[in-house]
Amino acid sequence: MRTITSIDEMQRIADGRRSGRGTVGVVPTMGYLHDGHASLIRRAKEITDFVIVTIFVNPAQFGPNEDFNRYPRDIKRDTELALGHGADILFVPGAGEIYPPGYSTSVEVERLSGKLEGKARPGHFKGVATVVAKLFNITKPNIAVFGQKDAQQVVIIRRMVKDLNFNIEIVVNPTVREADGLALSSRNVYLSAQERSESPVIYASLRQAEAQIRGGTKDPLTIKENMTKLISERKSAAIEYISIADTETLDELGTLNQGGSVLISLAVRFGNTRLIDNLLMII
Ligand code: AMP
Repeated sequence: MRTITSIDEMQRIADGRRSGRGTVGVVPTMGYLHDGHASLIRRAKEITDFVIVTIFVNPAQFGPNEDFNRYPRDIKRDTELALGHGADILFVPGAGEIYPPGYSTSVEVERLSGKLEGKARPGHFKGVATVVAKLFNITKPNIAVFGQKDAQQVVIIRRMVKDLNFNIEIVVNPTVREADGLALSSRNVYLSAQERSESPVIYASLRQAEAQIRGGTKDPLTIKENMTKLISERKSAAIEYISIADTETLDELGTLNQGGSVLISLAVRFGNTRLIDNLLMII
């Protein structure tokens, strides 16, 4: 079977692959796969010879009042989708396999982890960095593919790879969206019909910001205010944060100067569902 749950077995297979001629790609996910994940798997298949998709809903990256218990799961469908898009192996460990009794080690990417998503979700990126480091050691990839959807995650993983000397290339794929602009997310299934119909405002606000920056607006505060206005027209939307930041340090920008790159990102709640999105632009 192509689904593996044991770390030992996964490492044996990875060692075998690494001693051969081909390259290994990994796509780490939390499952409930959609077309966004599929695009990463296809990309991994294009650029490597052996693709490992990992599915692990990582308890360490959820806060105590977050949706760990209700996070959607459908391993049968995920298996079909992953294999259908080119995965060679699925690594689906249990929580006890990843965090056995006595487990004590974590990876903290300082500074970057405390900003934006990390400020809103304390401990989140410690959980992410730790599990991704473990998954790298278990699957031993040449290349790991991540989505731009989680922009801060990409910045943090790149930093970790550099700081801890992982010999792994990080490849980032663009965000896959519904026709109306909503970024695909496993969490979209939580949305009520009303919330779903209002949710495209997130991407609309990003496009509005982009157009205003292109049009010459230099003050991030003005752009954020205009995004806030647009989103607030939707009854079910509650903004958690809007950020216009440097793409590497994730520090908020005071003014928008030509020649730089900018990460516009936001988190918005629709009822109990927290959605994030972002847009990266060169100005
Ligand atoms: P998740 O299962 O949500 O942890 O996501 C696993 C990987 O898929 C991460 O690298 C995400 O950034 C990526 N991903 C999630 N949603 C999308 C999307 N809509 N488009 C592209 N990549 C995505």
